[in-house]
Amino acid sequence: MAQRIILVTGGSGLVGKGIEAYSKQNGNTNDKWIFLKSSEGDLRSKAETKAIFEKYRPTHVIHLAAKVGGLFSNMKSKVEFFRENIDINDNVLACCKEFNIVKCVSCLSTCIFPDKTTYPIDETMVHDGPPHPSNEGYAYAKRMIDVLNRAYNEEYGCKFTSVIPTNIYGPHDNYHLADSHVIPGLIHKTYLAMKNNQDLTIMGSGKPLRQFIYSLDLAKLFVWVLDNYEELNPIILSVGEEDEISIGDVAKLITEAMGFKGKLIFDTSKADGQFKKTASNKKLKSLYPGLTFTPIQEAIKSSSQWFIDNYDVARK
Ligand code: NAP
Ligand code: GDP
Repeated sequence: MAQRIILVTGGSGLVGKGIEAYSKQNGNTNDKWIFLKSSEGDLRSKAETKAIFEKYRPTHVIHLAAKVGGLFSNMKSKVEFFRENIDINDNVLACCKEFNIVKCVSCLSTCIFPDKTTYPIDETMVHDGPPHPSNEGYAYAKRMIDVLNRAYNEEYGCKFTSVIPTNIYGPHDNYHLADSHVIPGLIHKTYLAMKNNQDLTIMGSGKPLRQFIYSLDLAKLFVWVLDNYEELNPIILSVGEEDEISIGDVAKLITEAMGFKGKLIFDTSKADGQFKKTASNKKLKSLYPGLTFTPIQEAIKSSSQWFIDNYDVARK
């Protein structure tokens, strides 16, 4: 088999680092992996994106690069979430077509699903109704990847597909106090509460439900999609519906893992966001027999330990 040159945009982020670790241990030795960081080129720029494709001449692309943030970051910067992601996605997919990429796998999110819907949500429902207003900038930009994947296929025969992961966490996450997702945000807040001998404040009621996936579990599934998934339509990469957990219970798991002994306070003046976005992993299970995930207690323990061990270099 000819050597594959696999370009991973967003290779320095949470998911990219997970794929890097997985591919180093389990990858096909004939593959050449390139993990991009934004200092190599701003993918919002057409010219810089093209220069990257000219430099590396990839045969395959895993497209992760995006402006990414948790609920509160999305609520305050809808314009930037829309425009930056639209530009990045348009430039990357246009280059994938221009450079005759064999296959491109892009990353959507369960945040893009309709707010008012029936449960569980599946892959056929991406465009069924407006997303939750808190993240509509990000959600509409991401939905357009699916539209473009079909359009590039119909018009030019391109093999572009996408995956839909749920809320992701793990080593190399963004642990910013205000702009991160809930697990890294609460790990950082718990660390500070322990250091300063304070209680832990959790945003919102703690009642919303989420499915979480560990970045190293997701990495394995991403590589499987690149190698084996032949459809153009997206596929949900998620734990089962039975593994959905409330924000309050996740906060308890984090504080237990880190040995926090103070009180948990729920600040109900802060937003809860979408109550739930329960996603079905039925399609994934039917195509990937023997699917297993790292237990959340174990993965939260590793993620919080990674933060403590890498406090000086962690994004925060
Ligand atoms: P992340 O840790 O914030 O990483 C984002 C990556 O994108 C970084 O490598 C960053 O590069 C790169 N990037 C951002 N803007 C760029 C630009 N203008 N030009 C070039 N590179 C740029 O995000 P992540 O959590 O790994 O997310 C990866 C993918 O998963 C995204 O498509 C995201 O939408 C999706 N997703 C994430 C979650 C989640 O819970 N985190 C859930 C569902 C889906 P530098 O770091 O070098 O600047
Ligand atoms: P989402 O899954 O896309 O909604 O994004 P998040 O990872 O930001 O999770 C948001 C949920 O966690 C909401 O119900 C928030 O009220 C709750 N939450 C509690 N504390 C925090 C926090 O410190 N950061 C974030 N991002 N969310 C928090």
